[in-house]
Amino acid sequence: MSSKPLTRTSNWKKSFADKLLQILGSDGVISSPDELIAYECDGLTGYRVTPICVVLPKSAKEVSEVIKLCNNENIPFVPRGAGTGLSGGALPVEEGLVISLSRMNQILEIDIPNQRVVVEPGVINLWVTNAVSSSGYYYAPDPSSQLVCTIGGNVAENSGGVHCLKYGVTTNHVLGLEVVLPDGEIVEVGGKTLDHPGYDLLGLFVGSEGLLGIVTKVTLRILRKPESIKTILAAFEKVEDAGSSVSGITARGIIPAGMEIMDNLAIRAVEEAVQAGYPVDAGAILLVELDGPIAEVEAQMPVVIEVFKENRAKEVRVAKDDDERALFWKGRKSAFAAMGRISPDYYVQDGVIPRTKLSEVLGEIVKLSAKYGLRVANVFHAGDGNLHPLILYDSSKPGELEKAEELAGEILKVCVDAGGSITGEHGVGYDKKQFMPLMFTEEDLDTMNLIRCAFDYKGLCNPGKVFPTPRTCVEVGSKSYKMHPIEKEGLGERF
Ligand SMILES: Cc1cc2nc3c(=O)[nH]c(=O)nc-3n(C[C@H](O)[C@H](O)[C@H](O)COP(=O)(O)OP(=O)(O)OC[C@H]3O[C@@H](n4cnc5c(N)ncnc54)[C@H](O)[C@@H]3O)c2cc1C
Repeated sequence: MSSKPLTRTSNWKKSFADKLLQILGSDGVISSPDELIAYECDGLTGYRVTPICVVLPKSAKEVSEVIKLCNNENIPFVPRGAGTGLSGGALPVEEGLVISLSRMNQILEIDIPNQRVVVEPGVINLWVTNAVSSSGYYYAPDPSSQLVCTIGGNVAENSGGVHCLKYGVTTNHVLGLEVVLPDGEIVEVGGKTLDHPGYDLLGLFVGSEGLLGIVTKVTLRILRKPESIKTILAAFEKVEDAGSSVSGITARGIIPAGMEIMDNLAIRAVEEAVQAGYPVDAGAILLVELDGPIAEVEAQMPVVIEVFKENRAKEVRVAKDDDERALFWKGRKSAFAAMGRISPDYYVQDGVIPRTKLSEVLGEIVKLSAKYGLRVANVFHAGDGNLHPLILYDSSKPGELEKAEELAGEILKVCVDAGGSITGEHGVGYDKKQFMPLMFTEEDLDTMNLIRCAFDYKGLCNPGKVFPTPRTCVEVGSKSYKMHPIEKEGLGERF
């Protein structure tokens, strides 16, 4: 199939916007420069690109019509949920369109007997739990951004959260999707039942970072609330002792719902921001949540406390009621935003390591922090070995952002050398595509690209993300799949 050459008439933007208006009406298209500013970046604020327009479709049919228009006009498009992504996945493309799913925000069906909820992609994560809570159910994946991030964004990033250690991440809770493919075709993968025959296309779409199409409907699995929940806070002199407690707990055969560590810098920032009652003089705190039948939780509690004591815990506190439990978690979930209290800017890294390498890798991060002269606060999903070093910098000082990025890159290399990965849950996006070769060979990347090209042979759907650039085209037999020119030229202006 041939695509139009990228030569344009002088008024092509206006003419393109007019065609969008015909599809979506005047309240469905944003094109004024003032309003576009809000869409220039996501949570990775160091990079910004102004799109031609932002569209706000209300149905899969409208998404499909917009995408067909983009295909006819050869315009790249970027799906966007709430824009809380931290890897630049929703960063617009130069001379491209942003398709915001924020108006597709209805919970379509709640099926309690079958434990299923069907939602549009713009539904906020926490709304799902709120909708089923009175029936005794909840939606397990709980990113710390769950008050604002969307289910569509969660699906694209395969998001995790503090309670994903025991129950799994987004992919374990998504059963079906409706997707508008990059050529505008609307397809369904999976459904309400388990284990559909054929290739696991559902698994392919979850975590594909908006490169394979736009999700317009999601069938989720909900879980029954546990009979009992106990949250324990343990404070330690050293981060290493908190880390050894994590291994100690799993070695006793206990899988808590969540195990989260924060170091002293993070604790102090959080206390200043939300007064969660954390001990500010502790070197680290470990939050452990046990849940399940009352008898099981009661049996596990003393074992966990014993492990804390073996690892020199200075203080152990069990949340006395739901309010204190919520406060413990509020502190943890506010940790990123709390950095604003102690630094003008911060950069969130997201690496994974084997749990047993925790002390070794944290030691390396301390050394790197000293080498670059930048403070690093550490917050991590300790049970999963998913580190979130928060690199503190001041963008008003020339060169500090670059230094922070370099330090972040070195941390990733340490994670990979320790047998880990360059991302645990925030995705590769724009930010980390340059680090993909740390984990994959050129052949690996070309093979992944073939899958992408099978869905998006023009390279119009969220180009310039995930795969290191420049990239040209991939050839399979007689077929040659084109990469959008943006893949060769790169995108994104440093802000
Ligand atoms: C304070 C804070 C805390 C966070 N904590 C966590 C955490 O604990 N765990 C975690 O995993 N993440 C966390 N994140 C990262 C982020 O919130 C998640 O990645 C979230 O899933 C993004 O959702 P969103 O709606 O904001 O998506 P966006 O940022 O808008 O988009 C993210 C990606 O999804 C694509 N996309 C969005 N909607 C669709 C769709 N309908 N179809 C196809 N592609 C789509 C976009 O193109 C982009 O590539 C945190 C972020 C912040 C700012």
